[in-house]
Amino acid sequence: MPKLLIVEDNEMNRDMLSRRLERRGYEIIIAVDGAEGVAMARSEKPALILMDMSLPVMDGWTATRTLKDDPDTRHIPVIGLTAHAMAGDREKCLQSGCDDYDTKPVEFTRLIEKITTHLNSTPS
Ligand SMILES: [Mg+2]
Repeated sequence: MPKLLIVEDNEMNRDMLSRRLERRGYEIIIAVDGAEGVAMARSEKPALILMDMSLPVMDGWTATRTLKDDPDTRHIPVIGLTAHAMAGDREKCLQSGCDDYDTKPVEFTRLIEKITTHLNSTPS
């Protein structure tokens, strides 16, 4: 099963999401801030990244932009997650290079559909 990277600073969200995805059979690796997320994406080469946007050290927008500017990591699909369905957040997320976007609290079935779609459309 594919390896997914969750970048999330909130422990409760992180645990909930990783447990549910592990139950589906995914291998889960975790980073707790944007800088660690970038470092882990580079070293672990996950199949997909779930990126919280509001993160300490380096925010999710900057982390995504950094990964999309790097030829080694730009192919990894990034699904951005934000806590607020703010007008403009989706655009901001896509502009920074996110391949997709969803709002928190996560609706798990919908998120799984997005993950599956992006994993299937990634060239191997
Ligand atoms: Mg956060």
